[in-house]
Amino acid sequence: MTKPLIIAIDGPSGAGKGTVAREVAARLSYRYVDTGAMYRAVAWRAQQLGVPLDDEARVAGVASTAQVAMDAGRITIDGVDVTRAIRTPDVDRAAALVARLPRVREVLVAHQRGMGKEGGVVMEGRDIGTVVFPRADVKIYLDAAPEERARRRASDAAHAVSDQGAAVADVAVALEARDASDRSRTVSPLAAARDALIIDTTQLSIGEVVEKVMTVIREKH
Ligand code: C5P
Repeated sequence: MTKPLIIAIDGPSGAGKGTVAREVAARLSYRYVDTGAMYRAVAWRAQQLGVPLDDEARVAGVASTAQVAMDAGRITIDGVDVTRAIRTPDVDRAAALVARLPRVREVLVAHQRGMGKEGGVVMEGRDIGTVVFPRADVKIYLDAAPEERARRRASDAAHAVSDQGAAVADVAVALEARDASDRSRTVSPLAAARDALIIDTTQLSIGEVVEKVMTVIREKH
């Protein structure tokens, strides 16, 4: 038996992280962890409880006391299935706000480390290769041209309810704002780790990206 690996996949929204990470995890029979869903679930729960999203102590309290469970593509927080509810433009914005709060990140990063420490995991997010697992066995940073990322997001089935009929141009504006927030924040800004393999997915199919990632993984095994 080869050692189960920790595979970190980072990058901005719409670069293809989710689809690629899920497929790679399925091929390896590894656990897939969508860390963005955790920030989204905490933001959703805080809003539901009437906690102001800039109240760091209270939002961190929500993050540490809430029971978040992720299994078979569904996410629940405190027993409520929020798989679809967290994919709205409102939660897009709310998640990016709570992700700026250092104490919230501390809680969620600790949780993520716990989920990945035994290896056998493909973890997707913004800071996995830089902060959560700086010693991950494989680090991939997926990127794509902004117009292509907006086009993908506008036709993404998971966002279909919220973005239904949304013009690609509108999606592009929202995406740009969220990316700017993710890149400019002081804690764990979105950035490629120095030792990450950067893949520009603009011109590539999902299959081609998965193949590139699998090639790197095979070299590690
Ligand atoms: O990946 P997704 O778009 O679902 O992430 C939602 C938000 O959560 C991002 O805009 C980002 O602000 C935050 N996030 C983060 N660190 C991660 C994953 C997501 O800051 N590892």
